[in-house]
Amino acid sequence: MGSDEESLVTKSLAERGITRREFLKFCTVMAGVLALPTRYGVRIAEALEAKKEKLPVIWLEFQDCAGCSESFTRSYQPSAAQVVLDLISLNYHETLMAAAGTHAEAAREETIKKSGYLVVVEGAVPSSEYCVIGGKTAEQILLESAKNAAAVVAVGSCSSFGGLPKAHPNPTGARAVMDLVKGKPVLNLPGCPVNGENITATIAHFLTFGELPAMDKLHRPLFAYGALIHDNCPRRAHFDSDEFVREWGDKGHKKGWCLYHMGCKGPITYSNCPLILWNDGTSWPIGSGHGCIGCVEPDFWDRGIYKQVKIHEVAPPAFYPESAAKNEKKISGTSYAVTGAVVGAAIGAGAAAIAKGKSNGGEKSSDES
Ligand code: SF4
Repeated sequence: MGSDEESLVTKSLAERGITRREFLKFCTVMAGVLALPTRYGVRIAEALEAKKEKLPVIWLEFQDCAGCSESFTRSYQPSAAQVVLDLISLNYHETLMAAAGTHAEAAREETIKKSGYLVVVEGAVPSSEYCVIGGKTAEQILLESAKNAAAVVAVGSCSSFGGLPKAHPNPTGARAVMDLVKGKPVLNLPGCPVNGENITATIAHFLTFGELPAMDKLHRPLFAYGALIHDNCPRRAHFDSDEFVREWGDKGHKKGWCLYHMGCKGPITYSNCPLILWNDGTSWPIGSGHGCIGCVEPDFWDRGIYKQVKIHEVAPPAFYPESAAKNEKKISGTSYAVTGAVVGAAIGAGAAAIAKGKSNGGEKSSDES
């Protein structure tokens, strides 16, 4: 670790009135988001505290709504997350920077002259005639900016997969960043918008380990996109118990049952949404009563938000506890069958065993609901 005078983190903590304890707590949370053991919180803290120079970042925006910038600047634990942001130098960001015109372009060109910076891209890249900034097309700006970069990070589904601009019939010829940038590590953080916590965790990972996190075949970091929503969903017990919402506002909807028949894309969507949630960790779409729309998957706009998906593989129901309502029904039925034969305690035990037996044998067929 560098001396206090030279430490960017120490300076940032003092300026923002954040205690080191709060900073360590934040780093431990980041280790959790990165799916690392909690002891890595200390390693992340030490790596960040050792930084003496800021990481230069060029943030490009093309066909986007700026929702990902909005999500990034509102990531939860904002004061502690700001310490990570204090370790990057946002040399170019069309929405946030004070400079404009030639001054702004000069800032980008100056950064490109040095190597080792990070390029963050928000928005899809249209074909030439649809986006020209400073006399250069979006594709030219992207490739020019990526030339000397250490890595390129696409934030949001538009830059990762084309998103809404690329939806049928793709009138502007929108393309994903990974289809254009070659010979550089490209990481995708899809989402509409991206979850700000995943951006902060990615930057913390890059600053700590000097490289991008491990990715899946779609270039998404495994820490954030390694598990199906369906396998971590709090409504999963209702799916396994055949308890579904069939109509908005019906009994099942009021009771918080599974949204599969309402078009929930949780069974085909890989994301850590159920674990880190949204809006300061208060809720997320399924928690609020709407199915997942699968916004982190390619071509989700063309899939039909309320269209039911087919499930080809599903973890066996026995892996999950059944819903309380289902168990109540089973216990009640079994109790009736053995009335007078066993005492009350045995009834409960027998019912539980029967319920478990049914559960273990009740493998759900792939498209069954
Ligand atoms: S279908 Fe959707 S609501 Fe139902 S368990 Fe799966 S992810 Fe949760």
